[in-house]
Amino acid sequence: MPSGSKRRKSDRQIDFQTVLDGIAKAVKGDLKKGRVATYIPALARVPKSKFAMAVLCNDGRQAACGDADEAFSIQSVSKVFTLTMALRAEGTSLWRRVGREPSGNRFNSLIQLEYELGIPRNPLINAGAHVVTDSVVNRDPNGKQAILDHVRRLAGNKKIKFDEEVARSERAAGHWNAAIANFLKAHGNLKSDVDRVLDAYFHQCSIAMSCRDLVRAGSFLANRGVDQRTGERITTVRESKRINAVMMTCGLYDAVGSFAYRVGIPAKSGVGGGILGIIPGFLAVAVWSPGLDATGNSLAGVKALELFTTRIHKSVF
Ligand code: GLU
Repeated sequence: MPSGSKRRKSDRQIDFQTVLDGIAKAVKGDLKKGRVATYIPALARVPKSKFAMAVLCNDGRQAACGDADEAFSIQSVSKVFTLTMALRAEGTSLWRRVGREPSGNRFNSLIQLEYELGIPRNPLINAGAHVVTDSVVNRDPNGKQAILDHVRRLAGNKKIKFDEEVARSERAAGHWNAAIANFLKAHGNLKSDVDRVLDAYFHQCSIAMSCRDLVRAGSFLANRGVDQRTGERITTVRESKRINAVMMTCGLYDAVGSFAYRVGIPAKSGVGGGILGIIPGFLAVAVWSPGLDATGNSLAGVKALELFTTRIHKSVF
């Protein structure tokens, strides 16, 4: 062994609790550096001092630190769960209505949608998420409730709720999303009424759940489509591979490249400061820190995930 290098632990030997506790200490000074999202007024009140992290391995090991049982607004992380529902129901024909390339634009940009004639670049930017939500609500008169039930089932927690105050707040300030949805409708790429899609979209973004809930809900993506906790098959192996691929290339707004460089795993972030990350074949990890960086991703959350994959010597690369 070259001098100074440490022998790597095998996956079984990793003490996740010690790793998470060390990361919580290491990012303390970063919590105040980010800026809480203010464009959804109800999110502006969340204290920047909050920090949580949770891990759930395919072999059942788990660990958590900080405010890991405190529910927060998952916002765009919800897009992964609705994409799962839409892909299950609609299959690959969904890709005729939405692409799977990074957008290189703001998450709520309208520009690209105009010159690409109403076909959003991917399902994890707002325009694509409206198409995905439309696919769910158009099939199910109770689509909004079906989204919540799906998340509750994945997380094994019936107490997960919509935060009605956040949903109302976003609706009141939701002119960009309304513009996107109307534009999609004008292009024939929304089947349901615009208001119905927006209502379901704002509600799915308002879902409040904890980091511990989030790793349970995302565990099927680490486990080839099978819920780690219940053994239930949620998606096919192929679908989980594809959802992970879309997260890897489109899940971190306009910072997917630097996130892949620094962290190296599929992930989806939200403006509530949450990030769900997946190491396929191994584990799901979630982090929450409300202060955002200039790209809209949790500043301390990205750093925490960078430390995590570095300290456990794991990524997809
Ligand atoms: N509800 C937010 C919006 O549509 C989600 C943004 C996000 O988390 O990316 O603006």
